[in-house]
Amino acid sequence: MNVRVRFAPSPTGHLHIGGARTALFNWLYARHTGGQFVLRIEDTDAERNTPEAIEALITGLRWLGLDWDEGPEGSTPQGDFFQSQRSEIHSRRVDELREKDLAYEHEGAIRFRMTREATTIPDLICGDVVRELTDREQEQPDFVIVRSDGKPVFHLVNVVDDIEMGITHVIRGEDHLSNTAKHMALFRAFDVEPPAFAHIPLILNANGSKMSKRDEGASLETWRDEGLLPEAMINYLSLLGWSPKDDTEVMAVAEIINRFDLPQVNRANARFDDEKLRWINYEHLRQTPMPQYRMLAENVGMPLEGHDEDFVNAALATCQEKVKSLPDLPSFGAFYFTDDFPVDSDFGEKAMTQENLSALAALRDAYVAVESFEADALEASLKQLAEELGVKVRVLVQPARFACTGQKVGPSLYHLMEVLGRDKVLGRIDRALSGS
Ligand code: GLU
Repeated sequence: MNVRVRFAPSPTGHLHIGGARTALFNWLYARHTGGQFVLRIEDTDAERNTPEAIEALITGLRWLGLDWDEGPEGSTPQGDFFQSQRSEIHSRRVDELREKDLAYEHEGAIRFRMTREATTIPDLICGDVVRELTDREQEQPDFVIVRSDGKPVFHLVNVVDDIEMGITHVIRGEDHLSNTAKHMALFRAFDVEPPAFAHIPLILNANGSKMSKRDEGASLETWRDEGLLPEAMINYLSLLGWSPKDDTEVMAVAEIINRFDLPQVNRANARFDDEKLRWINYEHLRQTPMPQYRMLAENVGMPLEGHDEDFVNAALATCQEKVKSLPDLPSFGAFYFTDDFPVDSDFGEKAMTQENLSALAALRDAYVAVESFEADALEASLKQLAEELGVKVRVLVQPARFACTGQKVGPSLYHLMEVLGRDKVLGRIDRALSGS
């Protein structure tokens, strides 16, 4: 079967974590099966759907890299993939139901003749879910499909568009499970076999409450602005309700596509854990190949231009293992590329005491003499000097670090000095000793 899935958001604000995860599961399923991923904007609620929200949605999906095979090109509501532009199709389908006497007018609205029996929903994740009629439905099982103001309701347009677009699998949040009996009845009324359903678990906050759009961390944009890698976001979102059989956690997108499947989606609710998201981001950052890492570094403002490529690679390599989040990189490693680096003056005060300064002067002499300017030799020479002077290693390490980098935290001191090279290191020590 050629799989066709869709993400059908109602654009009302930011793209939030829950929406992004629904989009992702659809996209993964399409890519895993070689099917198509359709984006359909359910923008029939004119009061709540704003152009900004549509724009935010499209930008968010593009940032994540969730490309659609069919869908809108831009955020202006035109063409087939905006529900608001499909009203002719919707009213034709309403006529069809009325002709079949499966819908009728009642107090100005149009109602659908709903089945009077319990419905079994075969769900790929939840199993068979039996939905009985509620008390209210027993009184009036027929639900409105067109309001008295002429507007078709969600259930109708959602099903009609799924039929028209040939959707084979409906993958969406569990909050829609309660609508599915209605949807199945509508499919059947149109003589169409309902698609396969897969309702994915809710996302809860770390404290167990239901995550809402307004919760901290719930907006995708916040994470993008924090400098998170989109592939880390994808990796993390994929684990909100799914996991591969061997419980691997850090995965490249291609690997997730390869391993993703609906039967492995959990029934239990998922919990959003921003610490874990940050950890996954760090793991991806650490494993980014150097050419890409260089580009990322440039994007966060590392002044790499004009520097020799080998030098840049060596410098960034000392940062990559330690930098947890990309926006931290400039304060961590900009000293490699400019003499005009930011200085932590509190650290300066502690590092540049009188005792430390005279030790630093002695270190300068040792580093003029040291034969090879490599990390091991620099470490050995510093430690030997500390012993000769009868001081703690820290008395040499702190002022050397301050002189070379201006910061308390940074790459390993001996490695960064090796990468900087003798001339630069001596120059910076001189500058620090002269107090300028
Ligand atoms: N517009 C609906 C929503 O955003 C779509 C539901 C569905 O995927 O069928 O919740």
